[in-house]
Amino acid sequence: MKPSRIQRKTSPETAKQSSDIEAIDALFDAAGLERKRRGKPAGITRRLRMERAMPQELRLPAPEPRVAANGVHWLAVPAWQRMSWLWHGFSTRKGGASRAYCADDAPGEMNLGFTAVDDRAAVARNRRLFAQAITGSTATPLVTLRQVHSNVVVVAGAADALRERPRKGDGVMTAEPGLLLAVQTADCIPVLVADRKRRVVAAFHAGWRGTVKRIVETGIGRMRFEFGSRPEDLVAAIGPGIGACCYSVGEEVLSIFESQFSYARALFREVYDSDPVRTRYPMLFLTQRAPGHSPIGPSLHLDLMEANRRQLLDAGLKPRAISVVGGCTSCQRELFFSHRASHGHAGRMLSAIGIRAR
Ligand SMILES: [Zn+2]
Repeated sequence: MKPSRIQRKTSPETAKQSSDIEAIDALFDAAGLERKRRGKPAGITRRLRMERAMPQELRLPAPEPRVAANGVHWLAVPAWQRMSWLWHGFSTRKGGASRAYCADDAPGEMNLGFTAVDDRAAVARNRRLFAQAITGSTATPLVTLRQVHSNVVVVAGAADALRERPRKGDGVMTAEPGLLLAVQTADCIPVLVADRKRRVVAAFHAGWRGTVKRIVETGIGRMRFEFGSRPEDLVAAIGPGIGACCYSVGEEVLSIFESQFSYARALFREVYDSDPVRTRYPMLFLTQRAPGHSPIGPSLHLDLMEANRRQLLDAGLKPRAISVVGGCTSCQRELFFSHRASHGHAGRMLSAIGIRAR
């Protein structure tokens, strides 16, 4: 037998530890193995250990919108249909009166954000149409937020729908019936949550920064604090956003996620494009340049929907209580607005939830 590689014997504690290690070494020796002590992995090793994928393997199926009598195309969560007390819906770009983001001969679109280039009256009209598609009335009050990629969550009431300037935050919740809470997105992930027992609803806006700040976990903690919501009574729906198929990010985003989440690595993929030569001989195309900035190297893609699903699980929801509506805003541009795919020239969608008026 080989002598043990651990020789330190100073205090009783270290003696105990080293005898444990000796025991493990002896076990390995007996099995004919050599135990390797793992050092800190170098950057390149870390990159190479990332799971790889082709963009098409990560692509999400396009959801099938329903079409309201007023022409609004919107998405509902099939599993939520039996909750008759609940209003909810995710908008698409189809339907509506906006002309700012479409060709001259195209039908009007459903921009729901007061963006700089769109006509305010058209957006206001679209918001009424969207409220009507979900609640049956154009007059249902709508509460939105001034979103700032934070983990700030506000408790809203009817007065908030009348404000000139919306409150600042990225999560909003209420137990008041008769109003619609909505978050605005055009790539970021919208998450809707409902408490089936206490009848509380919430909407969250989660881009990568808000996800790192745990907007969804924080928000569910706040539901518990404000309304006594229990995780086992909650259901959640993750709406359309930029998918792992399209969301390439810089390596600094990976580092930030790794510093915050034990499961960070499971949220990222190294993605190769579909050039067969590059696919077959990827080593020929490795470069030193940062992912996302290199025309030929692999790029690092983040799965933000999965990141937020993990937060819902960590907050105590059961996997079956979480619905993923699906749809990638970036590669399904006929259906959705995408800030990134349109280089910033994009409308906004709303994801809304409310308690039916009594
Ligand atoms: Zn995509």
